[in-house]
Amino acid sequence: MSATPRIAITGAGLGGLVCARVLQQHGVPVTVFEQETDPHSRAQGGTLDIHEDTGQAALRAAGLFDQFLALSRPESQEWRLYDRHATLIRHDQAGESDLSRPEIDRGQLRTLLLDSLDPGTVRWGHPVRAVTPLPRGTARLHHHDGTAEDFDLVIGADGAWSRVRPALSDAQPSYAGVTMVEAHFDDVDLRHPGIAHLVDRGTMSAKAGRRSLVMQRNSNGHVRAYITFRGPQDWHAGLDLADTEAVRARLLAQYQGWHESLLAILRDNEGGFINRPMFVLPVPHSWQRVPGITLLGDAAHLMPPVGVGANLALLDGAELAQAVIGHPTIDEAVDAYESVMLPRGIDNAKTAQQMLSTLMPDTDTDDAAFPDTLWPASNLPDSRPAHAG
Ligand SMILES: Cc1cc2nc3c(=O)[nH]c(=O)nc-3n(C[C@H](O)[C@H](O)[C@H](O)COP(=O)(O)OP(=O)(O)OC[C@H]3O[C@@H](n4cnc5c(N)ncnc54)[C@H](O)[C@@H]3O)c2cc1C
Repeated sequence: MSATPRIAITGAGLGGLVCARVLQQHGVPVTVFEQETDPHSRAQGGTLDIHEDTGQAALRAAGLFDQFLALSRPESQEWRLYDRHATLIRHDQAGESDLSRPEIDRGQLRTLLLDSLDPGTVRWGHPVRAVTPLPRGTARLHHHDGTAEDFDLVIGADGAWSRVRPALSDAQPSYAGVTMVEAHFDDVDLRHPGIAHLVDRGTMSAKAGRRSLVMQRNSNGHVRAYITFRGPQDWHAGLDLADTEAVRARLLAQYQGWHESLLAILRDNEGGFINRPMFVLPVPHSWQRVPGITLLGDAAHLMPPVGVGANLALLDGAELAQAVIGHPTIDEAVDAYESVMLPRGIDNAKTAQQMLSTLMPDTDTDDAAFPDTLWPASNLPDSRPAHAG
């Protein structure tokens, strides 16, 4: 290893960026290679609840907790569960002072992390093709344009379809049997009062058997809906996914018998629908140590999106950086990091898989049950009207 370790991170997602930030705070140089051409080349997705013991702990380690708090929305922790008749069957309140898992737009959090880095840290428009181990514990990073660079440590933070993972493991993501179709609403309080009423300040889910409708309020009156169902990956066979009306008709057919106020989620959205089949890595996913290469976040433990993936990516990133800072060699640092991260990833992936099976059973019932572990601070239904919309 050179005196100052040469460290590369592939992927400027939340995990990679927090890792870079903590390293730089302690004077360790790092370069992040990101395939996207600039910070704004892709909409960053919806809102994330950032948990006290994982995501928030990482942001504290990065010295960004107060700035995170200023941007976050504690009131958006509020959650409502409806059955398919739009009967409110559970309502979890959230006080402004409850900071256990405040929400923040993913784009705001990514910008906060990007702005905290030294200029030029992220090399935009640099897709990584592969990483190969070299003798003496270093690693070669192969760029898409055919060039290569050597590093003492390459950190694969490049998400579900990681190009670094094959250097450590043969595992490939597979379809989890559940698809989310995303829909958007703008300016809900003025333009979509029924949607605004259903989602209120936070999250709503309506659920029956293998189907659910979930909506989350983001900042600036924006709401994202996730039309989620168990079914084959080619549920849209014979349809052009760009044909919004045809997709809408196919979705409405799946939700026949649901209350009109809920069907508005399928009928009234702005723009098109975005198909998001869920992919997962096998559980357990692990590997034998390869000097000079490791993974974090989804690259290491892609699991169903039940609310922990981004939090774990943040924690992995902060802990890996702290391990590098706190150990005399990269090898010892990665050993220490992986000995905690791998079992934690496996535990969380098992739980996420169980939750997915409970939330999305392979049966067509009216059951709207939710595992209590998801939202433990449950209240009984409040005195609001039983029907939404
Ligand atoms: C619909 C949905 C909702 C979710 N909601 C939540 C939630 O509420 N709470 C939560 O905790 N988690 C949630 N998750 C999970 C969460 O999004 C992920 O677990 C998290 O983003 C993983 O972070 P990451 O940094 O590991 O990877 P990513 O966020 O996927 O970032 C990877 C980065 O690597 C880049 N990249 C990819 N390939 C290459 C390459 N070859 N070369 C260079 N760069 C590359 C990508 O462009 C990207 O910038 C949700 C997921 C989905 C799909």
